[in-house]
Amino acid sequence: MTPERSHLPFGDQRDAPFYGHDIVSVRQFTVADLDYTFEVAHEMQAMVARVGAFDLLKGKILANLFYEPSTRTSSSFTAAMERLGGSVIPINEVKYSSVSKGESLPDTVRSLERYADVIVLRHPEVGASALAAQYASKPIINAGDGVGEHPTQALLDLFTIREELGVVDGLTVTMVGDLKYGRTVHSLSRLLSLFDISLNLVSPDILQMPAEILGELEASKTPTTVLGTLGGVIGDTDVLYVTRVQKERFSDEASYEAVKGAFVITPETLSAAKERMIVMHPLPRVTEIAMEVDDDPRAAYFRQMEYGMYVRMALLAMVLGKA
Ligand code: ASP
Repeated sequence: MTPERSHLPFGDQRDAPFYGHDIVSVRQFTVADLDYTFEVAHEMQAMVARVGAFDLLKGKILANLFYEPSTRTSSSFTAAMERLGGSVIPINEVKYSSVSKGESLPDTVRSLERYADVIVLRHPEVGASALAAQYASKPIINAGDGVGEHPTQALLDLFTIREELGVVDGLTVTMVGDLKYGRTVHSLSRLLSLFDISLNLVSPDILQMPAEILGELEASKTPTTVLGTLGGVIGDTDVLYVTRVQKERFSDEASYEAVKGAFVITPETLSAAKERMIVMHPLPRVTEIAMEVDDDPRAAYFRQMEYGMYVRMALLAMVLGKA
């Protein structure tokens, strides 16, 4: 959490928005914060295009602490830090760290912050980042807390929508797949509720969006329709956000098998969609989007990953007082 500091490391701006802040939930962000974050992300994008890497975070160290598998989140934070001139302590295999000896999360983060300036944390338990933030005096960035939230993914998702479609207000967003266990859609729907959008939530019955989030959508007066099929809404959709059925969250294999192929996006699905719309996915994809869709210009999921690096560069610079 924001530390009481008697002095600041050279060059840090105490009055910079987000200086020393944790990023635990998208609920921390106002529309003005989003505008600011995306403005910084644009600057990062331009700098990467111009010079590839620069020294904004030279001398800063990120601890990338991952208790669950990750490809994009961990490597994009690493790429982000390195493009900003900083360095990374990668802890991907907690089984090789002291966690396997029974160390608690508060002790692990209180140790790592003695070496690092910021900690990116992925953990299987909901609330793990909030807990870590209570104990750490350096910023904690939530990179996914079980079935809870994945705030930096939602920020990059929103940035993608703005970059690809130019606006957010007025759009119809359709989320499809595992809305129960998919933390990315939990964060994204919360973030989208700050805008004037319509939301379609398409899933098998047993994978519906949690009641808590449906309640929040209702409270924010976000027009929301819960559906079991995609056919009736694909034609009105501006953003089709597809998710993987989260196999690792099921307690029994049979329930997973029963729903794993419930929705598969194919070129035929998209033949009923608008010319100007995008298909997004946080990845990894298993079978829910056919590979033949990849060549469709509306398939934005790999572009989405690149936007993620710029957003994560922005967030690192912001919490470290350099933006
Ligand atoms: N990579 C995303 C996450 O960590 C989505 C997924 O795993 O399906 O939540």
